[in-house]
Amino acid sequence: MSDILRYSIDELSALYRAKKLAVRDVVDAYLARIDEAEPSIKAFLAVFPDEARARAAELDERGHDGSILYGVPVAVKDNICTRGAATTCASKILERYRPPYDATVVERLRLSGAVILGKTNLDEFAMGSSCENSAFQATRNPWDTERAPGGSSGGSAAAVASGMALAALGSDTGGSIRQPAALCGVAGLKGTYGRVSRYGLVAFASSLDQIGPLARGVRDAARVMEAIAGHDPNDATTIPEPAPALSADLDKGLDGLRLAVPAGLDRWRMDEPVREIVLQTVARLAEEGMKPETVELPGMETSIASYYVLANAEASSNLARYDGVKYGYRAGSGALAEMYERTRGEGFGEEVKRRILLGTYVLSSGYYDAYYGKAQRVQALIREQFRAVFRKFDLVMLPTSPTPAFRLGERLADPIAMYLSDIFTTPANIAGFPAISVPAGLSPDGLPIGMQLFAGWGRESVLLRGACGLERVFRFRERFPGPAAGGGRLS
Ligand code: GLN
Repeated sequence: MSDILRYSIDELSALYRAKKLAVRDVVDAYLARIDEAEPSIKAFLAVFPDEARARAAELDERGHDGSILYGVPVAVKDNICTRGAATTCASKILERYRPPYDATVVERLRLSGAVILGKTNLDEFAMGSSCENSAFQATRNPWDTERAPGGSSGGSAAAVASGMALAALGSDTGGSIRQPAALCGVAGLKGTYGRVSRYGLVAFASSLDQIGPLARGVRDAARVMEAIAGHDPNDATTIPEPAPALSADLDKGLDGLRLAVPAGLDRWRMDEPVREIVLQTVARLAEEGMKPETVELPGMETSIASYYVLANAEASSNLARYDGVKYGYRAGSGALAEMYERTRGEGFGEEVKRRILLGTYVLSSGYYDAYYGKAQRVQALIREQFRAVFRKFDLVMLPTSPTPAFRLGERLADPIAMYLSDIFTTPANIAGFPAISVPAGLSPDGLPIGMQLFAGWGRESVLLRGACGLERVFRFRERFPGPAAGGGRLS
């Protein structure tokens, strides 16, 4: 294992500035790690060794210019457009799609000096929690290759956890950054809705989708977020202000932060090791004089139900564009209706079809009020309850996933069990506020468990400060170096 792979973004940056390290060496080390680990992990749908090396040469030639991700090797989820390079959404319907433009986040990665190593696997159109709904391959969890990495950004999470990328971009509609981050033992951040441009992100549920970073630690995640965040004239839903200085408060510690825990967490269904870590964390924080207070958030229990109505409704509308006419896969040469049917019938996988059917149903006349209208009213309620809590508290703490990584195949036949993976993550999307998952500890089986923080609308700085504080309490990477450092059960 090359020492180079252990450096954080700031450490790399310092070494580059001191001219003790060349981008070329770092990129070579990551490409070698991909050669070594990728056959057993299958995190990538495409790797760009030639482009990455050419980019490294260009950056070495230029020298460190102070840009925030200079020489940082990153991976990008394959539902984010990269000019000229396949962007498949892990779907047969987009298998040959090569976007003529870069997503705003990709453009910003390039402008900030990052080196893009490749595109990562996902559940088709980001629909899923295990990365098994990909039309091409199932990614494996680096801590135990018989288990799922979580999803839908499972390729990004597995790439970072196994040391094949220093950081990666994911997208989060109902938890798809945070849940795989938790299952793979890395940090995953979703900003406030509108903090990051969705221009060039293939739409799933536009009112909920946000791009964000997965990284080994909170500080690295903050750096990537600083590079990609901020207003974009190409996305009218972005917050019309430049990205705030997200890492300014990182080291201020937990002291003085008002922390809340949802009441009745003990009633919620979660595996014992997850419950253990929640209780231990609360006890540890209390010892350090930061006793988290219990708050009532009854709406949380309904957030998963309203999420699957709202997200599927939007998905059914967004995915109408894949009709075999404009771009993507086309089947059949007969009558128009037959071409539509065959194209969509053959091009979409089972889960995507299930969502289109459900979404169309909840939007159909006669059911619109009973389902879509009601889900929107529940959404308003959840938002109001959280707003009230954030008037008194800085952060809400709860687990990220009710279970550690599950076995591949285990939940495929039971969509509801799969949907319940997001029980703790969806409120942040439904209500639009920022959230982060921080690796907290290991289960007795040696599987990572993540803790989650929510903060009020626009308060990423406080969120990251809290997450950095928790990271210091958990000391996860020191205690469990894991597969990125050659440990774990990577075979
Ligand atoms: N797992 C959730 C779903 O299947 C969330 C997906 C996501 O955030 N993209 O919809």
